[in-house]
Amino acid sequence: MSSIRNIVVLTGAGVSAESGIDTFRTEGGLWERYKPEDVATPEAFARDPDLVLAFYDMRRAAIQEKQPNAAHFALGRLDAEWPGELLIVTQNIDDLHERGGAKRMLHMHGQHLNAWCGACDVRSPWTGLLADRPPCPACGTRALRPDVVWFGEMPYRMDEIHAALRKADLFVSIGTSGAVYPAAGFVRGARDLGARTLELNLEPSQGSRWFHECRHGPATEVVAAWVEEMLAPER
Ligand code: NAD
Repeated sequence: MSSIRNIVVLTGAGVSAESGIDTFRTEGGLWERYKPEDVATPEAFARDPDLVLAFYDMRRAAIQEKQPNAAHFALGRLDAEWPGELLIVTQNIDDLHERGGAKRMLHMHGQHLNAWCGACDVRSPWTGLLADRPPCPACGTRALRPDVVWFGEMPYRMDEIHAALRKADLFVSIGTSGAVYPAAGFVRGARDLGARTLELNLEPSQGSRWFHECRHGPATEVVAAWVEEMLAPER
């Protein structure tokens, strides 16, 4: 472990589950009531923009009432104290990593608290509603959509992610099912390039077999314990 200097952490919906934000798999949760193809694709937005905007308005409002949990705070502490390179890549569109103190991070699937103008391409911070078609703060056109990457769209900042994966000594996947590509492929890429790979998830994920080591349990426990271990002086 002591040869580890550069770390890439990938997080998914599981890291926010204990903050009360549904994962795709939460029984009785949001994703049992809405199919991703009805609300999270460009085709759905073209077909029924009112439904899609109302869905994201509801989630944007809900997320602002949630609080970061011990896993977000542990990763914020890792960011503050880890002396080597670190990149936290989140698939989540909530802002709980930021509120947990993480700075060396990026949102590969966009973020709820941004609106993106289809007319001028400018992204603006956004906490309110989009369903009532407000004007873009930059150009005034009523063409705002949530700044989230839908199924079938290209994730953001892939060049930065691949550059970090190439240098990584350790790749850690937290709370993600290993079902959504390209993120699900990062473990194999990192491993092929020589990184050690660790999964921290509630249960074995679809990609568990690709990891050198898996620790299963709630993120608030397993992530906090792993960060303690990484920052322990005797490492
Ligand atoms: P997913 O729902 O497919 O998988 C979540 C994973 O987290 C599962 O493997 C589950 O076992 C695990 N998990 C559940 N509770 C956990 C806990 N308390 N501790 C640790 N692990 C736990 O989510 P995904 O892999 O992130 O992929 C789905 C896509 O939808 C991604 O883009 C995702 O970010 C997005 N999404 C985002 C949010 C959010 O922003 N918070 C919520 C739902 C879905």
